[in-house]
Amino acid sequence: MNLNTITEVKRPTSADEISQWRDGYAWLAGGTWLFSEPQVAVDTLIDLDTLGWAPLTATAAGLEIAATCRIADLHAFKAPTGWRAVPLFNECIDAFLMSFKIWNAATVGGNVCMSLPAGAMISLTAALEGVGTLWPRGGKPREVPIVDFVTGNHQNVLQKGELLRSIHLPASALSKRFAMRQVSLTHLGRSAALIVGTVGNDGSDFLLTVTAATPRPRQLRFARLPSAAELRQAIDRELPADAYFQDVHGSAPYKRHITYYLAEQIRTELA
Ligand SMILES: Cc1cc2nc3c(=O)[nH]c(=O)nc-3n(C[C@H](O)[C@H](O)[C@H](O)COP(=O)(O)OP(=O)(O)OC[C@H]3O[C@@H](n4cnc5c(N)ncnc54)[C@H](O)[C@@H]3O)c2cc1C
Repeated sequence: MNLNTITEVKRPTSADEISQWRDGYAWLAGGTWLFSEPQVAVDTLIDLDTLGWAPLTATAAGLEIAATCRIADLHAFKAPTGWRAVPLFNECIDAFLMSFKIWNAATVGGNVCMSLPAGAMISLTAALEGVGTLWPRGGKPREVPIVDFVTGNHQNVLQKGELLRSIHLPASALSKRFAMRQVSLTHLGRSAALIVGTVGNDGSDFLLTVTAATPRPRQLRFARLPSAAELRQAIDRELPADAYFQDVHGSAPYKRHITYYLAEQIRTELA
């Protein structure tokens, strides 16, 4: 849609060009959400595209995903041998309800910064122990694990004008085995639950990441693969009945029920 409140589009070549922030400014990534509804409080868009960040940089330490990396770029990523968790990229991308236009325009950073419970790039990067680099206006860069970046439905730790620069996925997490389950109440509907388990080759360091069923990502970590009873007890402890997200895509009791069900499937698959 046309945003008729916009009077200026800035196209910086460095984020430092935007040293002052004021109400009315908004970072523009793929624009798929920004242009999907009126933005009456926004008069200036600041296009991140002209910053020219490399979308994906793989090193021995892991994978650096620029916030401006498009979903289509991530889908095309060819992993170095040994990064066994990379097929999870496409499983999460497939869980992201979108048209051709969103596929080619939406960015990983835009999805994470939207901070919706069903944000599939949040599920992916939290499950693979991603750490975001944040650039505040006029302050020092800071790092925040993605699991802590989202604080609630459409809420996150970003301060006014703060920019998500990139997300680092460590090679240690990329090398783990994984299992993923996702369900929607309707065919091709928004996720009611998207749950990922990862585990080391030797069965150590089992990490269960629950998303979509809860307002923000929740993680349960075990030194080794737990038994079915241990897993259920941990979910009971960490995710009480009021920890689930109730919306048109599923009631909280339903999401709680499928969390137990899918978590057990994941545990069994990885055992
Ligand atoms: C038809 C439709 C279906 C959708 N289905 C889903 C779905 O199933 N699951 C889901 O999670 N979402 C869904 N969405 C919303 C989706 O999250 C966004 O459209 C998309 O992820 C936003 O990415 P973008 O790059 O286009 O961001 P933009 O629209 O450009 O920006 C989104 C917001 O993030 C801010 N922002 C963007 N990048 C940064 C950055 N690097 N640092 C700081 N702030 C930033 C922007 O200022 C803006 O507030 C849907 C949207 C539409 C229109």
